Amino acid sequence: MTAQIIDGKGIARSLQAKIAQRIQELTPEYGRPPGLAVIMVGNNPASAAYVANKEKACLRVGITSYGKHLPGNTTQSELKAIIEELNDNPLVDGILLQLPVPPHLDSSELINTITPSKDVDGLHPVNLGRLVRGEAGLRSCTPAAVMELLKTIPLDLAGKRAVVVGRSILVGKPLALMLLEANATVTIVHSRTVQPQEITKAADILVVAAGQPNLIKGEMVKAGAVVIDVGINRLGDKLVGDVDFAAVSQVASYITPVPGGVGPMTVTLLLQNTLWSYCRRYDTHL
Ligand code: NAD
Repeated sequence: MTAQIIDGKGIARSLQAKIAQRIQELTPEYGRPPGLAVIMVGNNPASAAYVANKEKACLRVGITSYGKHLPGNTTQSELKAIIEELNDNPLVDGILLQLPVPPHLDSSELINTITPSKDVDGLHPVNLGRLVRGEAGLRSCTPAAVMELLKTIPLDLAGKRAVVVGRSILVGKPLALMLLEANATVTIVHSRTVQPQEITKAADILVVAAGQPNLIKGEMVKAGAVVIDVGINRLGDKLVGDVDFAAVSQVASYITPVPGGVGPMTVTLLLQNTLWSYCRRYDTHL
């Protein structure tokens, strides 16, 4: 079997076109476009590239950026004051703290300072709680991106075995809850799992977010499985995922590439979350 590639880049492009269209309709009605503030502290080159990418995407769809790029020695109280100011700014619909932050900062406390209705990364305990309860709320962008990609293939998640590799608060845990919400039977594999291969091999849907290049080999995947590779790892000058793409694409039915799979959809979900938050403010639909 040779897997069909799920074209995250193309799917992201068409979703961004819809977002841009909706923003064009709403901006004259409410007298302003949606606004997103990405806060970055320090000069981590990977973070700087991600932030530049997010700000470019905002520009493309008509979201105004209120980015704050702060020096690495910014203090916790200075950052809290900046977040509180953005919470009160009526032009800002979304606030995102680019992670990781330098080690002298307490990222949990900072995320908890973001008002939940502007928490477009879905990491505030209120939004995570809404996810657990199955209530509407802002959902983390990367797991929401995975769910959107799954919607583009002919697949009913109900009753299927879904395995998530990785249990981070950013990806693995919220994704497991989203798959559960879609009625899949969900198992999480993590760094302490014994004989992970037995579990991954039983998956109808295998989503991998471990940050370990080539962790998933062909023999760890069931024939015909859908494989979503969230990992982004730099190997020399190449970006690779967590899945051995060449081998696994011989076994799976559908697979996402890296780059060009989950990454572009994650940015798109950030734009969609910002628009969602804007729409909620005006009590209108997405
Ligand atoms: P993380 O380091 O916070 O978490 C990694 C998780 O993987 C941990 O829960 C750990 O238990 C698990 N793990 C590690 N080694 C393992 C192993 N050998 N077997 C099974 N589980 C293992 O990372 P994260 O923030 O969740 O990100 C995971 C990967 O996804 C990274 O490569 C990251 O760059 C990438 N990522 C991509 C996007 C995107 O938009 N495509 C967004 C966020 C993260």
